[in-house]
Amino acid sequence: ASSNTSVPKTGTVVANADALLERLKFEIDLQTSIINREFTMVYQPIVNLQTGKILGFEALMRWIHPVRGFVPPDEFITVAEDLGAIGALTDFAVEESCRTLKNILDQTDGDPDFFASINVSGRDISRLGFAESLALTLDRYGIAPKSIRLEITETACIFDSQIVRDNLEAFKTMGFGLSIDDFGTGYSNLAHFKTMPLSTLKIDRAFAGDAHENPVSGSIVAMLVGLGTALNVDIVAEGVETVHDVRALTNLGCRMAQGYFFHKPTNSNDLLALVSADQGR
Ligand code: C2E
Ligand code: CA
Ligand code: CA
Ligand code: CA
Repeated sequence: ASSNTSVPKTGTVVANADALLERLKFEIDLQTSIINREFTMVYQPIVNLQTGKILGFEALMRWIHPVRGFVPPDEFITVAEDLGAIGALTDFAVEESCRTLKNILDQTDGDPDFFASINVSGRDISRLGFAESLALTLDRYGIAPKSIRLEITETACIFDSQIVRDNLEAFKTMGFGLSIDDFGTGYSNLAHFKTMPLSTLKIDRAFAGDAHENPVSGSIVAMLVGLGTALNVDIVAEGVETVHDVRALTNLGCRMAQGYFFHKPTNSNDLLALVSADQGR
């Protein structure tokens, strides 16, 4: 190759073309897997921080591609959102979570407050009739909306559309729980929370996971717990990995937690076994 000035530029273009091709392949694989339903759900218990008793679970999606192997959900969820294909994945997550929750409620003594927490994207709540379609799915399983918490990230809580406002209003009327996910990492206007039918704030592991050793994180957790208490909602600390995390978060006033210290995400059968073993506690 010559050393004329167009070389780096051409190189850049080629690199971008490679990246573009990669992205297109990824999109095709994702679309194909959506059509072929090549996804599964795993479930991570949400526990009482002090006793470890399982209070509910969060449903998390897994995509194991025949060639790519495990693809992190952070990666494929964003692409699915860009493709306008997230709705199909959310519907699948809701369906599977309802099946799992129903199984647990049927085969255990049935704590009436036991819940399934399901991640929904900003795109979902911008879908006309999303709340009603959720209600129909729950109906088929005989599950009450109050047993379901919808996890929405702080940044996805955009109120600039009438459809979003209608969905949130319908969630409230129907009795769904609403969780703010990754709380503390967004830039939301706290005034929004005054009008939202909130049930849970989930404190991001960026703070919850190092509150025991980082005073700034500790202060942030304390502030978020104070806010949650004032709003009368549950506070869930995410990413609890060690006994140090447990002690620090307990001292900071957290009551609920989720993390590898307690349980990793598991399949539906293993979750049922865990909840069954947990009974009578
Ligand atoms: P998220 O909603 O904040 O989910 C919590 C993530 O933390 C999960 O990662 C979980 O496996 C992980 N985690 C749980 N305990 C620990 C711990 O003690 N330490 C560490 N380091 N991590 C822990 P995962 O399953 O990889 O999911 C990543 C993200 O992908 C989720 O973050 C969520 O934003 C998105 N996601 C996953 N499943 C779905 C889904 O069904 N629908 C939508 N819309 N998004 C999903
Ligand atoms: Ca979540
Ligand atoms: Ca989270
Ligand atoms: Ca940690």
